Amino acid sequence: MNIARLNMCHSTREWHRNAIQAIRRLNEEKGFCISVMIDTAGSGFPMLDHGSSSSIKTEDGSLWLFTSQKLKGSPFTIQVSAEGFSEGILVGDELVIDGGMATFEVVEKIENDLHCRCTNPGLLLPQAKLSLWRNGNLVTWNTTLQALKGKCISTQDWKDIDFGIAEGVDFVSISFVNDASDIKRLKGYLSSRSVEFTGVLAKIESLKSLEHLQDIIEASDGIIIARGDLGVQVSLEEIPAIQLRITQLCRQLNKPVIVASQLLESMVEYPIPTRAEVADVSEAVRQYADGLMLSGESAIGSFAEKALSVMKIASEQMESSNRRELCQSFIYQPLLAESSVGKIAEQICKSAVEMANNLGVDAIFVYTKRGQMASLLSRNRPNPPIFAFTDDAGARKAMTLLWGVFPLEIHFSDDLEFNFEEITRRLKVRGCLKLGDLILVVCDSDVGGFNVLPLFRSIQIRAIV
Ligand code: PGA
Ligand code: MN
Repeated sequence: MNIARLNMCHSTREWHRNAIQAIRRLNEEKGFCISVMIDTAGSGFPMLDHGSSSSIKTEDGSLWLFTSQKLKGSPFTIQVSAEGFSEGILVGDELVIDGGMATFEVVEKIENDLHCRCTNPGLLLPQAKLSLWRNGNLVTWNTTLQALKGKCISTQDWKDIDFGIAEGVDFVSISFVNDASDIKRLKGYLSSRSVEFTGVLAKIESLKSLEHLQDIIEASDGIIIARGDLGVQVSLEEIPAIQLRITQLCRQLNKPVIVASQLLESMVEYPIPTRAEVADVSEAVRQYADGLMLSGESAIGSFAEKALSVMKIASEQMESSNRRELCQSFIYQPLLAESSVGKIAEQICKSAVEMANNLGVDAIFVYTKRGQMASLLSRNRPNPPIFAFTDDAGARKAMTLLWGVFPLEIHFSDDLEFNFEEITRRLKVRGCLKLGDLILVVCDSDVGGFNVLPLFRSIQIRAIV
């Protein structure tokens, strides 16, 4: 794994703090580079509690009470997490559970409670999510929820973000983003607190976010395709095409993208995945997503480690097949930068990747201060691995999100030869390089040893001796 997500929906502050410390300790002791992401709870859908820890069946035509009052254990009663949830709901509206696990029709409203008939029998899972439909259209939830007010970062989320800042986390992901404004607000807040390398990721999991996709991607440092909650708002059949559109747009705009949720869902219970799940993982890899994210499989599943290894093996298989097909799939990306310095960097990286692929080099080295050149190389999805060297621990952690990049921290000396020798020595010890390997070297202009004019933005090919 490269990044650990801590979901603020669950567990206590103390639990999260301990997890962050454990990851730090392992990074130091074992030389890992695992970044930490906190994921805000956000305000999406009301959650349901039917009073049991296992799932229950709902029969066709059965009558149920939806209430925000605590009525634990009463039969045919469902407690809804949001007070005032029934505000604005009309008789005849449809309540859809977990994107279709069961459906109810509102038959009567008494004060804040709803009396409903099951029209589509199914299953109620513990902590199911509720969406509201009227005449076949999704209705945005009532005014007591922040989502309607256009704000997706709640007061609690801001507290969680402050906690993340205090703990020095590497990424903050924002749930139920509607448009770019919350992302901009958070980025402004982080810079006002002089937090330099904490990346802001937007989770695409609402209908509204799909309308503002490009703005959201441009404002964020990366995207999470949160297929779980997205599947509560759009039909499941639409999600594969939406995923493809988002992964392609992210690549065009050079923003990392993570495909999330239900990748290996059956492994929460079973030691092997279904064929369809492996195909789903492989498809995300074929689309060149930067990352894949497990949820329940690793958080509460009985086969957490196994799920991770299934994902790793399946990804590696598809990646090597992608590499064999590279000639066809190597798509040139448009230049994004407006400044000439930026354009030069992009063109160098693009050409470097083409050279690396055509020459069949064994690795790409990039010396980078803030990770920008590493990201531009990664964007072109080269065949060989990219080893990115920086002298900044924060920049190194930020690069864990980038496709094909292995970030390493080194102390740069002004002596170019010394830098190269020191790096190759370390990589040889790790078994990443061997004698005779060909290396393509690229660098940021201001990195030690390279800030002399003749070498400004150079591409070099070197052999390991
Ligand atoms: P969650 O987000 O796991 O925080 O709900 C992912 C998703 O909705 O897919
Ligand atoms: Mn979600």
